[in-house]
Amino acid sequence: MIPKEWVDLVKDGLKYSYAPYSGIKVSALAITPDGKVYRGVNVENSSLGLTVCAERVAIFNAVANGERKIKTIVLTSSLDEPIYPCGACLQVMSEFGVEEVIIIHGDKIIRHDFRELFPRPFNWRKEENREK
Ligand SMILES: [Zn+2]
Repeated sequence: MIPKEWVDLVKDGLKYSYAPYSGIKVSALAITPDGKVYRGVNVENSSLGLTVCAERVAIFNAVANGERKIKTIVLTSSLDEPIYPCGACLQVMSEFGVEEVIIIHGDKIIRHDFRELFPRPFNWRKEENREK
């Protein structure tokens, strides 16, 4: 089980998605180890390449509020099948130590260990040099 608040918050976020090109609304939560929740939605752009996914918006929102560790990502979309994070988002998740990705699809809750989704992130910095 996950907190009902997470399910409600992530589903509620779909209404803030800005997706006039794809029509695919995506909402995500970035949750810190102490339980703080930051939401993001996908933000598309007419140049398409500037589009940013909901997961990265949620993580950047957390970072902009002083967070440096994200434990869990919760994700949902308007698609009629479960949505999975893209490679760019997985790489950004790895930067902040995400441990679990939870996909909400209707009443279904699909949980994945982060390493199962992204076993070998790119990481050129030594652990001891990492900003804490
Ligand atoms: Zn993405």
